[in-house]
Amino acid sequence: MTLKERDKKHLWHPLTQHKLHPEHIAIRKAKGVLLYDEEGKDYIDGIASWYTCMYGHCNDYITQKVSEQLQQLDHVVFAGFTHEPAVKLSEELIKILPDNQQKIFFSDNGSTSVDVAIKIALQYHFNQGDKRSKIIALEDGFHGDTFGAMSVSGLSVYNGPFEDFFIDVARIPVPTSENFNEVRVLFEKLVKEHQVAAFIYEPLVQGAAAMKMYDSELLDELLQIAQNNGVVTIADEVMTGFGKTGKNFASEYLQNNPDIICLSKSLTAGLVPMAITSCSEKIYNAFLSEELGKGFFHGHTYSANPVACTAALAGIELLQTQEIKENIQRIIIAHQQFDEKIKNHPKVKETRQLGVIYALDLNIEMERYGNLRYQLFNFFMEHGVCLRPLGSTIYILAPFVIAEEQLQKIYRTIEKALDTF
Ligand SMILES: *Cc1c(COP(=O)(O)O)cnc(C)c1O
Repeated sequence: MTLKERDKKHLWHPLTQHKLHPEHIAIRKAKGVLLYDEEGKDYIDGIASWYTCMYGHCNDYITQKVSEQLQQLDHVVFAGFTHEPAVKLSEELIKILPDNQQKIFFSDNGSTSVDVAIKIALQYHFNQGDKRSKIIALEDGFHGDTFGAMSVSGLSVYNGPFEDFFIDVARIPVPTSENFNEVRVLFEKLVKEHQVAAFIYEPLVQGAAAMKMYDSELLDELLQIAQNNGVVTIADEVMTGFGKTGKNFASEYLQNNPDIICLSKSLTAGLVPMAITSCSEKIYNAFLSEELGKGFFHGHTYSANPVACTAALAGIELLQTQEIKENIQRIIIAHQQFDEKIKNHPKVKETRQLGVIYALDLNIEMERYGNLRYQLFNFFMEHGVCLRPLGSTIYILAPFVIAEEQLQKIYRTIEKALDTF
């Protein structure tokens, strides 16, 4: 039996209606930018396996560091104990995070990093005798699938069964130059009239909302209002972190630093799950007390796993090399050139780019969206390119190490798709 057949017996895949989509492509190995299926066919990983393996799959440098760590220390409880990889990671991360970030809290995935951020924000106020319960979030935001993260996510088409159990969230439209006055008025009203604990946002790019992009100046104004009113600001950089926007973090495009930052996805360079919630000294200090209960009583069994920390350290080291920096600039320019060529195509409605993130919206009627997305996915895979369109949006977020010919192959395949559909 093939892997594909054996899979069907016991496995339940994420985000899947198995009745409609029973088949899963079996991947045997991955190296660099390529995925290999069980028949040996290769695919260019044009979305870096959900924006994780930005330095390439099975990167020799990273796997070497990880295998050395595996001989040294596999795991130890992080409550009451510490170790070199976690200490070193905190030092290296603080060097590259926005200036005000001082403390690093570990968890296991992007959703838990958001849940941690929400709990920190709520307890920050609670510890100071200020009971605030409402969180402001952006419409179309995506922050994960655990309860807290799901509550603040706006893309709730499939969240129906859980909505009655959500925390108290007010959603505001994503700011644009057209709606900004209304959004600002609404935001100010919420902040003045309600007990708002926090404002959470994906800075500049909303990944799951099909790489929707918005302006840093507008976000900065909202952050200023939040800060003036003691609202904790939470930047969810789970997708945007580690170089993808052309800067190490999207928050660097802003004047106002967030109080809290969520990191995961490419944090460990695609090797193992781990997440971090970082915060400023001001936030951390609100938890220091003679009273035990003012501490932050949240923890996961695998918090700060040494192997995951080692993968993260190796990734951060690579991110800062000249080679990766040059690769990022090369991809930015290649995307711009492709954009010049494609943006006036009759089937292209709109294009956008920030750093190595490139997206194009197709000019195709609504009714065809549902099926079209799967048809496009199959078309790309048949042509050896792994791209997963979101709605009617095709986006590219390939590993930084993608070669010029591979990038050109992605572009050619997209052009072919435009001529086919
Ligand atoms: C993917 C993602 C999450 C959730 O991360 P998981 O590791 O899938 O739980 C949260 N926020 C953003 C912005 C993401 O892109």
